[in-house]
Amino acid sequence: MQIKFWGTRGDIPAPEKDKLKFGGNTLCIEVIGDDPKIKIYIDAGIGLMLAGKQMDPEVNMYHIVLTHFHWDHVQGVLPFVPLFIPTNKIFFYGYASTEHELKEYLNTLYLYVFSPLRTIDFYASKIYYKPIQIGTKFELNGVEFESVQLEHGDFTLGYKVSNGNKSFLLASDHEVKENSYLQRKLVEAAKGVDLLIHDCKFNERDYKLNRNQGHSGILQALETAKSAGVKKLGLIHYHPSYSDGNIQAMIDYANDREPGIQTFGCREGMIIKFDKES
Ligand SMILES: [Zn+2]
Ligand SMILES: [Zn+2]
Repeated sequence: MQIKFWGTRGDIPAPEKDKLKFGGNTLCIEVIGDDPKIKIYIDAGIGLMLAGKQMDPEVNMYHIVLTHFHWDHVQGVLPFVPLFIPTNKIFFYGYASTEHELKEYLNTLYLYVFSPLRTIDFYASKIYYKPIQIGTKFELNGVEFESVQLEHGDFTLGYKVSNGNKSFLLASDHEVKENSYLQRKLVEAAKGVDLLIHDCKFNERDYKLNRNQGHSGILQALETAKSAGVKKLGLIHYHPSYSDGNIQAMIDYANDREPGIQTFGCREGMIIKFDKES
């Protein structure tokens, strides 16, 4: 299994020169499994638009696994080129009770006040809707997914993603609430993973000014990694105003404070390989 980051920014895209190292596109992570002809993406921020532009004409199956429906996690659906190709099959996964409900959440993007397309049925591709719940397990292209609920309002999921004996857990968007039920469940799920990718919207100072907004600061991300005993921590969902320098400062701060945890910043274009055998 490999993962590739197409978007790492939180809230809104930030296409500015001083943000290009870590990237200005909103969240999208590709998960590359056994068959390279099957595409899997977690979240559909503007990063998904970039992924869609590099489409392989031999690929006709796409799985898009959503954490939740906030704009920065779904807006990349609108310009996703594979949706326009009649021979493509596109599967959406998201927190909903029924296929109809999941479709209606996505259809909100196409309300006439927001889009001239008016409905997601506009596209030529065949679209399928797969509602999932908290604790749902499913397998895509040899990769196993398990959803966990995050502290970010009612409808947000994290995913533990495993391939053989290797795994990572994505916890964005999430605010660490000390000793809360959801935090304890998240820590439990993160135990034993090779990598924790965690919400880090704020540095320590800004988090103090922005509590209870459903996002974590650098100390909160470290706290989850430490409680779960995870040795590798990838930061994600950076505040849209943070420059590369601001993000690097958070990474340096984390590595100084917790040298036993290898903290790095997820950045656009970065590929991480999980070798099953090692
Ligand atoms: Zn977000
Ligand atoms: Zn959100």
